Amino acid sequence: MGIPLLDLQAQYLSLKPELDAAVLGTMASAGFIGGPKVKEIEASIAAYCGTKHAVACGNGTDALFLILAAMGIGKGDEVITTPFTFFATAEAIAHVGAIPVFVDIEPGTYNIDVTKIEGAITPRTKAIMPVHIFGQVVDMDAINEIAARHDIEVIEDACQAIGATYKGRRAGSLAKAAAFSFFPSKNLGCAGDGGMVTTDDDAIAATVRKLANHGSSRKYFHDAMGVNSRLDAIQAAILLVKLPHLDEWNAQRRAGAAVYDELLGGTGLELPVARSYGECVYHLYIVKTPKAAAVMDAMKAEGIGTALYYPLALHEQEVFASREDIPKRALPVAESCDASTFALPCFPGITRQQQETVVRVVKEALAR
Ligand SMILES: *Cc1c(COP(=O)(O)O)cnc(C)c1O
Repeated sequence: MGIPLLDLQAQYLSLKPELDAAVLGTMASAGFIGGPKVKEIEASIAAYCGTKHAVACGNGTDALFLILAAMGIGKGDEVITTPFTFFATAEAIAHVGAIPVFVDIEPGTYNIDVTKIEGAITPRTKAIMPVHIFGQVVDMDAINEIAARHDIEVIEDACQAIGATYKGRRAGSLAKAAAFSFFPSKNLGCAGDGGMVTTDDDAIAATVRKLANHGSSRKYFHDAMGVNSRLDAIQAAILLVKLPHLDEWNAQRRAGAAVYDELLGGTGLELPVARSYGECVYHLYIVKTPKAAAVMDAMKAEGIGTALYYPLALHEQEVFASREDIPKRALPVAESCDASTFALPCFPGITRQQQETVVRVVKEALAR
């Protein structure tokens, strides 16, 4: 029997009666767009993150795009971000017409190297968009301090980090605005696409809400160019069932990570570094080795789920590598991860026995 990278079926079965009732209840209500469930999940996420506002939208990519647009960031502006993230981070920057400026990451946490940010700031820099990669919050005090000194905005890409903390505060409440994704494989996932913007800023919340609704605050009157980006009522209902379990699931991910930390020490594998300023929620448990291909082949042969995160850094992706306006900076740490960082199964509910199997297969492949 194999071990999946993520076991969404087990999660569904554990909540089947509530989830089925949520879906069927929405069908019976025949209210599919907006309505009480969407309002309720907005209020619940705002309360969970500790922000004044949460505004639902269609997905995490749109959440990032809507924040940038609401801040008036656009053509010719520069936004500093990490090259070691899912494509959507930089895609959102490019879609508002801005230029993603990539700054190298630090080894171990794979988060943006905050000591390298200031050197990338120019008079065109409008924002820094740190990504809490794999569920670990970036050192936000350091980033907010740099941003304040240069009078630029900070936007959290918190798509992988719902529930993660930094100095006692939750991801999503640590900058001017933050983006979350409810893509099924995220720590809090719906049954399709979904996203959310969190912010304490009244104007940003109102503008995001308007832009996500065709640039309209009053039905059939439009004062801005917007998009159609909504969270479906059915997804909101599903998220309301799942949210009360998120902290427990994240605790189980952390427990799984602690088991790997213990069993994989001294194997030569580079293990993820957890900063003491907060709690990582291990969206993924990522290890690094030059023998990644061999280890992953051995895992796959035994039916153990794994994947490269990420196989190619963003500045090396054709769509960005070919752009003359993106500054060419040295990004050796990010490039060193290409094809050498990959995930071990670390989902909520993984058993110690399953983890021991993973560890045995990994160790055997490393020794070969
Ligand atoms: C998943 C993800 C996104 C995009 O979210 P979608 O809901 O898939 O659009 C953006 N940034 C990061 C870091 C992500 O992991």
